[in-house]
Amino acid sequence: MPRKLYMETFGCQMNVLDSELVLSQLRAHGYAQTDDRDSADVVIYNTCSVREHAEQKVWSRLGELRASKKQNPNLIIGVIGCMAEREGRSIFSKYPHVDILCGPGELDKLPAMVHNAVVTREPSSSIANPKSQIANQRQVALMGATTRRSSTLSAAEDTLELLDLSRSVSPTDDISQAYVRITRGCNKFCTYCVVPYTRGPEVHRPPQNIIDEVKMLTEHGAREVTLLGQTVNHYAYQHPDGHTTTFADLLYKVHEAIPNLPRLRFVTSFPRDFTNEALQAMRDCERICRYLHVPAQSASDRILKLMNRGYTSQQYRDFIDRARSLMPDISIASDFIVGFPTETENDHQSTLDLIRYCGFKNSFIFKYSPRPGTVAIDRFIDDVDEEIKRRRNNEMLAVQQEVSMQHNSRLIGQTAEVMVEGESKLVSRQKRAATSNIELGWEKSSQSTALAEALTTQLVGRTRGDQVVCFPGEASLKGQLLQVKITSAQNLTLFGELSRELTSIA
Ligand code: SAM
Ligand code: SF4
Repeated sequence: MPRKLYMETFGCQMNVLDSELVLSQLRAHGYAQTDDRDSADVVIYNTCSVREHAEQKVWSRLGELRASKKQNPNLIIGVIGCMAEREGRSIFSKYPHVDILCGPGELDKLPAMVHNAVVTREPSSSIANPKSQIANQRQVALMGATTRRSSTLSAAEDTLELLDLSRSVSPTDDISQAYVRITRGCNKFCTYCVVPYTRGPEVHRPPQNIIDEVKMLTEHGAREVTLLGQTVNHYAYQHPDGHTTTFADLLYKVHEAIPNLPRLRFVTSFPRDFTNEALQAMRDCERICRYLHVPAQSASDRILKLMNRGYTSQQYRDFIDRARSLMPDISIASDFIVGFPTETENDHQSTLDLIRYCGFKNSFIFKYSPRPGTVAIDRFIDDVDEEIKRRRNNEMLAVQQEVSMQHNSRLIGQTAEVMVEGESKLVSRQKRAATSNIELGWEKSSQSTALAEALTTQLVGRTRGDQVVCFPGEASLKGQLLQVKITSAQNLTLFGELSRELTSIA
């Protein structure tokens, strides 16, 4: 019988991809994934440290597992990802029932660590709890935030590259939408951010490996591939002969090498690093989606400086103008941090102006969360009151909602290509409730329920510009690219009806 593995992932797309790669490795080692934590032999949390809130969720999960471990001393518990790297061995003193710690830069070692933890775990040892024995069974692989592994960078490149290269797809995997990493780590050191410490220095993957991976995924059914990097457009691979493949070169190469991939995307972009060539590649390659996620964080030059973002508000606006002049239909999303230390009302108002000026499709808005180990926590006092942060957060959301509504309303009456992600359970339920009240009356026979279901299954998908669209259709259309006529809009969602199936693009 294969051992059962439960994995829960927190945080960004990079973590989702890491979990997928690790799961594919563990499957090859005889582990079967389960959604039922209580029946699992191994429980792994892939964690995020970007904000305190994300960490609190993991602490509470670990707390819940204390009792499970008492009941089943053979249970193996692993904490992997950014929290493992940031907290290190101190996790063991808070939660002695944790067996494995593995940072995001060491995930190639995880299958062996899980195996070691399982085979060395004897029922008697955990119950009797002789401290030394438990300590020996613990498996730890951390990069060490202070060194950023610079002296062994090339070794790190080799082993982590193997993890991405080892990717395999099983027939049950749904890979219609897939992620492919093009860079690891980050060298920007924004003062509030833990990522450069937890994920290490920026490393660019060889272009041929990226192309091979995208090709393999497309052959197995991927219809949309998203290239990932913390600052994805900073990609520049230095070949042994000295020449460089730039981000623009990579976009052209991937687009050309895989003509049967209908959609190619990338996230997250860094404003300062966008060359005209990369924008031109987006314009020239018809299967590259005209969507950018390019976080501004703030529009106050003073705050941007304190954040160490390396651009001014005007430079950000100029970039947006440049992108729009090349691709008037481009859809742009951003991130903002509200209540960064010393943020004034004027700073806040200029950020609201920027949202209006740029007409973002949507913005991810976060209240500043001081993170241990960052420059900001050491250098600046978290002096914006929680109440003020909350109010500014709400004001920013309100302005963004207005802008999103204007953005979405313009699409009413148009037909858009939508990639179906699955059933929208919420909208289906709402429609079903409305239909059964209006059309079917109080008497709910099983026949009428089935009819309501057939009438009201609502699918959810995304346009090339990343807008969410809901429309009635059959669940079997998941993974398809369809033409949908937009009939109405809310600020976060478009609604429509099926127009006709898009025949092959390639
Ligand atoms: N690499 C991307 C970039 O440069 O914009 C984003 C990476 S970060 C994981 C995602 C978002 O989290 C950031 O854009 C920022 O808005 C937010 N974030 C990061 N650190 C934060 C902090 N300490 N407090 C609040 N938000 C934070
Ligand atoms: Fe963090 Fe800045 Fe790097 Fe993004 S660019 S991951 S915000 S340090």
